[in-house]
Amino acid sequence: MKATIAVLPGDGVGPEVMAEALALLRVVAECGGHTFTLCEGVIGGAAIDVHGNPLPDQTREICTQAHAVLLGAVGGPRWSNPQAVVRPEQGLLALRAALGVHANLRPVTPHPALMRRSPIKGSLLQGVDILFVRELTGGIYFGDKYRDGDVAFDVCRYSVAEVERITRLAAVLARGRRRHITHVDKANVLETSRLWRETVDRVLATEFPDVQVSHVLVDTMAMQLVTRPSAYDVILTENLFGDILTDEAAALVGSMGLLPSASLNGDGRGLYEPVHGSAPDIAGHGVANPIAMLLSVAMMFRHSLGLHDEARLVEDAVVWCMGQRIVTRDLVASSRLHTRDVGKAVCRKVRELAGP
Ligand code: NAD
Repeated sequence: MKATIAVLPGDGVGPEVMAEALALLRVVAECGGHTFTLCEGVIGGAAIDVHGNPLPDQTREICTQAHAVLLGAVGGPRWSNPQAVVRPEQGLLALRAALGVHANLRPVTPHPALMRRSPIKGSLLQGVDILFVRELTGGIYFGDKYRDGDVAFDVCRYSVAEVERITRLAAVLARGRRRHITHVDKANVLETSRLWRETVDRVLATEFPDVQVSHVLVDTMAMQLVTRPSAYDVILTENLFGDILTDEAAALVGSMGLLPSASLNGDGRGLYEPVHGSAPDIAGHGVANPIAMLLSVAMMFRHSLGLHDEARLVEDAVVWCMGQRIVTRDLVASSRLHTRDVGKAVCRKVRELAGP
């Protein structure tokens, strides 16, 4: 297949992990006879330095024209003055808006060989395989914000159409898994949650009767994520609850360097990036874990390019490397392996699994 991919390395460890993603793309292209046209752009602090703008027009253009966007990370102490008018993170928010990505997907699957890295007991982590589907462009983050004297307001707003489209996506994804959606809300208190609950129930009953649903209050979910995480398949939730719960769930896998994410719009295009930030504490040392970035590439293969076999190959190669302890020091403290070593090992395994 032929695809145009926008490549935004960003700041800090972003370029280091992106280099491994590009090596992986070359291997997959070669093995599968695909043509990936890569268009590189600047974003975040790197873009502020050159253009005074965290999302320059050229970068926006490259991204809106591409089939998919790969992003490293943005931000860092150089640009983090709270008084600054222009900040790297604005580039990411503007990019999400430009692409219209309304659904954020975050898989959480602790690897058996690395369960000791998790603060949660290994016995509780057996069989954990969760896919978070978080609404990304609505709710309290995007509602009106204002002050009236010494009172402040943040309006939480959701429409039926916004809930319907993300419910449909969650249901399609659930059909490829264990066909169960846990919808998380606060319907005992919030009107927006009651609208979510009614809408989720109606869409699933009428369009996806084969997908089961349960509703769980967000406070209960916060507890159950760490007490019985293996009970969940797809977790569907709104923007604010999703932001908090996905970070809580990140703790289950033991390192920020392992978690990929995808942000999708309605037409199959998407933004793929590791969950972690620019990790300024380790940037430049060549020790960043590239796995989150490589798994983000796998998500891109699956969700934007329709390359399901290639996605599985990358995921299998990553699991194999972790099983062999071919990992960076965030996972095994005594490891002397560099970002490049892990990236190369994944590429080698992909080649081997792809066969002659
Ligand atoms: P962070 O995710 O960058 O780092 C948190 C911890 O995880 C650090 O100890 C770091 O060394 C470690 N870590 C992160 N990625 C790793 C990797 N690939 N391998 C090994 N260890 C890894 O979060 P932070 O320190 O709070 O933020 C640093 C900067 O990143 C800030 O400017 C923040 O605004 C920005 N940020 C950007 C994004 C993004 O680009 N999507 C997300 C979060 C934070």
